[in-house]
Amino acid sequence: MTPAPLLAGQIAAITGASRGIGAAMARVFAAQGASLALTAQQAEPLAQCAAEMQTMHGTECLIHNGDVSDAASVQDFYQQIHRRFGRLDILAANAGILTDGMIGMIRAEDIDRTLAVNVAGVLHHLQAAARLMRRHRHGSIIITSSIIGRAGSAGQTLYAASKAALIGAMLSAAKELGPDGIRVNVLAPGFIDTDMTRHLGDKIRQKRKEQIALGRFGMAEDVADVALFLAGPQARYVTGQIIGVDGGMVI
Ligand code: NAP
Repeated sequence: MTPAPLLAGQIAAITGASRGIGAAMARVFAAQGASLALTAQQAEPLAQCAAEMQTMHGTECLIHNGDVSDAASVQDFYQQIHRRFGRLDILAANAGILTDGMIGMIRAEDIDRTLAVNVAGVLHHLQAAARLMRRHRHGSIIITSSIIGRAGSAGQTLYAASKAALIGAMLSAAKELGPDGIRVNVLAPGFIDTDMTRHLGDKIRQKRKEQIALGRFGMAEDVADVALFLAGPQARYVTGQIIGVDGGMVI
């Protein structure tokens, strides 16, 4: 007998779902029976991602275009989820931007924008998702941080600050929401081959590869599969954790 899909009947919201790690999460969650609420800024790639899920798995998809740093837009997303599905089981707060720069070169506007997207954006989603999940006393919130938020990296002080903040937020949220049956965990990916890293020169890529124990860059699906574990029933007793998905880049 074929085992039941891990996320059958569940509703999953994914931010930054149009490409990279978020799109891989959408594919993996849809393959396991979840209905999806997908959000990103650009309309076309997001619509394509939703169409792919509908064709491959017959997935019901709600699509929303908005900026995670815009609190009103995030509220609108959750109102739409409530109207369409009446509940929410999973949030993958994954959208993020990478702003590199040596300390002396970081611009004030880059600080504002990076913290607005990577930190405030996650907090807006965490807050709105928790409100919906509390009604059913059930939920899994998965926040995409980074190994840079744990280990640091020269030239990435701003990005590291934003990703480290998410670890503090997760630890507090896991304590606060645990009694309501809501689990909160952080994914800390290493070097994953997506648009975010493809612009890096061959020399940097080679240097990074040499730091990875498993000897290859991660694929978006490597991260999405761990997100599936955290979203699903096998992680029912896992909360407040930082799960590295880095091929042994930081050991
Ligand atoms: P990506 O390929 O650049 O995709 C980023 C996604 O986030 C896109 O869907 C993008 O859609 C969305 N997004 C960006 N800014 C947004 C905003 N203000 N509002 C709403 N959506 C926004 O990046 P990725 O590699 O998949 O990264 C996903 C997450 O993993 C990020 O949080 C990143 O920091 C983290 N991470 C990545 C790596 C890596 O090596 N790739 C390593 C560690 C952690 P739009 O373009 O439509 O806005």
